[in-house]
Amino acid sequence: MSYGAFQNYKHTFICLECRKGFKKPSLWAVGRRSEWVCPQCKGILIDMGIKFKTPKMSDLKAWNNLALKLPRWLRQYQKN
Ligand SMILES: [Zn+2]
Repeated sequence: MSYGAFQNYKHTFICLECRKGFKKPSLWAVGRRSEWVCPQCKGILIDMGIKFKTPKMSDLKAWNNLALKLPRWLRQYQKN
């Protein structure tokens, strides 16, 4: 199996502060050890995977929901 194909996958990285999503290659794919940083607030972007759809910036409800769920989700993610 070729790993080259994986490099075409762009993950959605989000910034909760700016309520923005950015399509970037996964850190794993580019072999980076550091995180992607939000170009606006310089915060660390959260990797939401390939299928995640970023809510509209004006959709406060969706973003609040994400902010509530993410800490738990991330802890789980890091455990595995
Ligand atoms: Zn930001």
